[in-house]
Amino acid sequence: MLPRVAIGRPNASVRANVDRYRLLVGDDLMNEVAALARELNGVRICHINSTAYGGGVAELLGRYLPMLQGLGISAEWRLIHGDPEFFTVTKAFHNALQGAHYDLPKSARQLYLSVNEESARLLEDEYDVIIVHDPQPAAIRHFIGRNKAKWIWRCHVDSSAADPQVSEFLVPYINEYDAFVFTMPEFLPPHLDRSRATYIAPAIDPFSTKNIELPIELCRRAIADSGVDVDRPLLLQVSRFDPWKDPLGVVDAYRLVKREIPEVQLALIGAMAGDDPEGWRLLDLVQEEGAHDPDLYVFTNVAGVGSMEVNLFQRGCDVVIQKSLREGFGLVVSEALWKEKPIVAGRAGGIPMQFPPGFERYLIDNVEDCAQRIVHLLNHLGERGEFGRAGRERVRAQFLLPRLARDELRLICDKIRTKPL
Ligand code: UDP
Repeated sequence: MLPRVAIGRPNASVRANVDRYRLLVGDDLMNEVAALARELNGVRICHINSTAYGGGVAELLGRYLPMLQGLGISAEWRLIHGDPEFFTVTKAFHNALQGAHYDLPKSARQLYLSVNEESARLLEDEYDVIIVHDPQPAAIRHFIGRNKAKWIWRCHVDSSAADPQVSEFLVPYINEYDAFVFTMPEFLPPHLDRSRATYIAPAIDPFSTKNIELPIELCRRAIADSGVDVDRPLLLQVSRFDPWKDPLGVVDAYRLVKREIPEVQLALIGAMAGDDPEGWRLLDLVQEEGAHDPDLYVFTNVAGVGSMEVNLFQRGCDVVIQKSLREGFGLVVSEALWKEKPIVAGRAGGIPMQFPPGFERYLIDNVEDCAQRIVHLLNHLGERGEFGRAGRERVRAQFLLPRLARDELRLICDKIRTKPL
């Protein structure tokens, strides 16, 4: 029988070739990253999160750890495993941090703390720096007690309007960390010590299977193979089936677009994340929407959709949608822009910062505006091209992995130089 709680090691022992980033981001940035890595020689770093697949954090760590190792840094990735009840509670925490109400029952507090306590006990290895991602493993630091490591809590969600009950429950555990990292200052919840907060945006890896260059003809052939008509316009949203990603709102917007452009098609690609039990219910609803509409395609990882398929669809579609209502960052936005795709996206959390200047009119707040901007882009090929090219340059300058490495390694060097709390 599998243990109720475990702390695993996803296979991330690959060393990325870091020199190939020089051509994209320039020597200055890569030299600074290399100098920071030398300063961390002999320092053991550990990243902890709760899922190895599905969602942005897993995507990020899967590419970031090999980069750190390629820089000669000793970095490990550890995973906490709990049972489905634990992930139901932590998904409720996730939603509550993003603003949903949650009447936090005593049983949920106890379950959360017991999994964290047991995970802390199982984390036997010694590290110098431990970076804990999101709320799921946040209380591990508390249960480890006093030790020499520097502890950093990395929050990936928009916690600017967190539910007070959950926020009050978690904040004392988070306040035990040496530093907290948020994507933007607006996300810092009340009662956290501001002086220990740092703001670092996530990033994408241009060399991952998800983002590598692919010939457009190959993309079209692969998309055609999945049943989509490549001679008609195709809209795409790639997202977990999560209410914050508003897949039903995307369907509504698509229906409005269809009134004006009847030949339009919509593909929704949504992998099911390992720590997201809520996703299955929403997938059912979306599949019901698609059941009677031959132009609405729903693809999940259950049906074999992986990174390569996401890449093929992002390159082969005409307009990307990311109709998020709340969003920590939204890696998919940078992924689409990097591929020179125009995107219509919710004005939420970390999305606007990824938009190239001059194209903010494609940030939307409701279904009607979403549909109207999509129609405009479908009717203006030249504008799609300009948006896409400006988007790629924005991502090249701000949202590729080496910039993230620089910001995070700077923070780690800074913390290592300071005395313990
Ligand atoms: N993703 C994927 N397949 C899917 C859905 C999502 O590979 O079916 C990837 C997507 O390409 C992106 C990540 O999962 O790299 C989602 O990250 P994002 O920050 O956009 O959202 P999150 O899921 O973390 O809220």
